[in-house]
Order: sequence, then structure tokens, then C-alpha cells
Amino acid sequence: MKFNLTTQMLLALVLGCVCGLAISAMGISPGYFKPLGDLFITLIRMVVVPLVFTTLVAGASSVGDLRKLGSIATKSLVYYFVTTAVAVTIGIIIANFIQPGAGLSISTEGVKAVNVTPPPLLKVFMDIVPLNPFASLSSGNMLQVIFFAIFVGIAISTLNEEYKVLSKVFEAMAEVMLKITTAVMYYAPIGVFGLMTFTVGTYGLDVLLPLIKLILTMFVASALHVILCYIPCIRATGLKIKEFFNGVAAPLLIAFSSTSSAAALSSNLQSVQKLGASKPVSTFMIPLGNTINMDGAAIYMGVASVFAAALYGIELTIDKQILIIIMAVLASIGSMGVPGAAMIMITMVFTQVGIPLEAIAVIAGVDRILDMMRTTLNVLGDATGAVLVSKLEGDFNPPKNNS
Ligand code: ASP
Repeated sequence: MKFNLTTQMLLALVLGCVCGLAISAMGISPGYFKPLGDLFITLIRMVVVPLVFTTLVAGASSVGDLRKLGSIATKSLVYYFVTTAVAVTIGIIIANFIQPGAGLSISTEGVKAVNVTPPPLLKVFMDIVPLNPFASLSSGNMLQVIFFAIFVGIAISTLNEEYKVLSKVFEAMAEVMLKITTAVMYYAPIGVFGLMTFTVGTYGLDVLLPLIKLILTMFVASALHVILCYIPCIRATGLKIKEFFNGVAAPLLIAFSSTSSAAALSSNLQSVQKLGASKPVSTFMIPLGNTINMDGAAIYMGVASVFAAALYGIELTIDKQILIIIMAVLASIGSMGVPGAAMIMITMVFTQVGIPLEAIAVIAGVDRILDMMRTTLNVLGDATGAVLVSKLEGDFNPPKNNS
């Protein structure tokens, strides 16, 4: 029997869960399985910086008409901003409803302050402009890489015809990165198996049970966001929901198992293009959204804030809840697509609202599980945006049997 890649990854995921439970019952260290997953993440992230840089330069330089680029950028940013604000609002409403922090038997006494300092808001924005673009490329500072790449792309588009070949060179380099991704994906099932065995083996049921209500709240809010936000957007493109989810299954599985949307970036780009998203839109939106559009992280910030406030008996008045929405949108924009990023950025929200940072130590026990959900949503939000904006731009070309 021959399984396609997505099926193989799904099987690996299930097998990893079973194996993780088995080794935790037998007392075998999950650490043995970690290198299998680490290798996968490193291989796939190897292409991220060159891919984001080359696709954005090629994308911005090939649009030709600056007005077209402006139109794509405006629609993308509006979509990113609105869906993220809706996400955090849903998170807060559902958390108020389910009350994940109520009656929790975890004592916060003696929980040490976690060693994180919130990044000042102004600095987050000032840091988007790189002092040295090569340093940004080598350290993988994605917001700076994006800023510089768009600048370079626009500059190339204004050059004389004889230099326009540069645009093609960047396009070819991006194609090379995607070819490497395709090759690396053959290893994906083994990587996913390693990641899941390690996660389930490390976070056995004992860790999960006390915070199960928090996990459940995150799940319900995420599901609601998919139903209220993404499904209508997908429908608007004329794609069938099932076809869309089949098309993006591979990047979603990578996101879920690796908790890194950067790791899912190249696969997401390939998937939305196969679904019919246009090249100019997808090469602009997917790398950009990968860093700045994080609906899952926003939901998490809403849910975790309500949870932590309840833990400390802090009343969340309406103005504090509005402050959470604003801060969570900004903090999610500043989060990188790497594991645990939102847990660091949430310090910005907690500090503004007056929630003690110690609360993070309580949530940290299950952060990996929450991260799996939020990363999947982060990637799904980008994919949905790319097909929707392609459609709005009149550039959507789904495969014939789709619509
Ligand atoms: N792990 C998430 C991602 O890569 C970021 C976060 O929410 O922590 O998208």
C-alpha cells in the first residue's frame, strides 16, 4: 500500500502519540526521540531566511505596478489586523464564559517570578528597521528581513529594463529553496514521529490534567475562530472547505507537530499556490503573515490573560479587557514563528494590565500543547488570507475540479 505524504505524516503523528504514552509508562527517556524531530525542524528552517528574502524581493519587484503592490499590501494588512483583533476578542469572550482559572487547585504561592522582561512597545516598532541588513539575515530577525526585502524589491522595480533580470534571479533563488523544501519533506514523517513522541512522552497526562480546562478553552476559542472567520473567507473564494483543508494539511501538520510557523512557511507557500493563490499575492502574504499574522497567538493571549487574572483574583474591567485586545494584537505582531514565542510576548500584555508575570510559570507547564494549537491557527490564518486576497485581486486560479 502506498500512502501520500500527508497520510504518512498523520500516521506518524498518531504513532508518535502512542509511542510517547508507551515510553512514559515504561520510564524510557523521551530525550532519545528528540534528535529525530530536531533534525527535521533544522532542515526545514534552514531555508526560511533565504526563502523569505528572495520571495519578497522577487514578489515586490515583479508586481511592476506599484499601485498593484499597494493594493495587495493594504488588503493583506487589513485582513491580518481584523482577523487578529477578532481572534483575541473571541479568546477573551470564551475564557470569560468557560472560566478556566476558576477553582483551580494550583497554588501560585512560591511560584518564582519567571525570568522574562517585557519588550517596550516602542522598541518593538523601532527595531523593525535594521541597522545592518546582513546582521538581520544572519540572525534571522524576520521583521527586519521583511522590511529590507520589500525595500530592495521596490527599488529593483524602478530600475531600467537592463537590470530587471535581477528580479528573475531572486525568483530563481526562491524556487531553489522550495525545491530543497520538497526534498526535506520526504523526511517529514520521521520528524513528526520524533516530535510527537518527545512531546507526549514529556507532557504525560499528569501535567495536562490540572490545566485541562485551560487547554479546552483554547481549543473551543480556536475552533470558533475557524468557523466564524476562516470558513466564510474560504467560502468567499469559491473553494470547497474540504478541498482547502486537504490542500493545506501538510503545512498544518508541520505547524502542529513542530510548534513553529517558520518551519511550515515553505510548505504553506507551495500549498496555497497549488490551491490557486496567485504568485504576487502568495509570495507577499505568506512570508509576511508568517511573522506578523498570528491569530493563534492572539487567542492564546486573550485566554491566558483571563485565566491568569482569575488565578490572582484580579478583576478584569471592560477597559482592561480592551487594553488586552490592543496589546495582544501588537504583541502577536511582534512574535516570531518559533516555539514558545507568544509565551514571551505575553509579558507585554500582562505588564500593561497589571497581572503578575509569575502566572506565566503556571501556564508554562502546558505551553507546548497550547503552542501546537496556536501555531496551527497562525499558519491556517496565513493560508486563508492568501486565497482570499488572491480572489479579491481577481488573481485566483483554483484547479479545475475545485470550484
Ligand atoms: N509557536 C508559534 C508560531 O511559531 C508562535 C507562538 O504563538 O508562540 O507560530
